[in-house]
Amino acid sequence: MPIYEYKCEECNEDFEKLVSGTNPEVLCPKCNSKNIKKKFSLFGMSGVEHPVTSSGSGCSSCKASTCKSCR
Ligand SMILES: [Zn+2]
Repeated sequence: MPIYEYKCEECNEDFEKLVSGTNPEVLCPKCNSKNIKKKFSLFGMSGVEHPVTSSGSGCSSCKASTCKSCR
């Protein structure tokens, strides 16, 4: 089951939700608003290590390819 990230447009609350089904109803856990925005989950990206083929990305001091200090 995928975990999606949402952001509430009303109170700016960021939260994650385990979603099952194709059209789940998600409410903000803080203010119960339906006015939320779905963000792309980073779940798949953090779990898989992509080989860095292009130069410029990634660094030698850490294993992360997306860390801000290496860019
Ligand atoms: Zn909210």
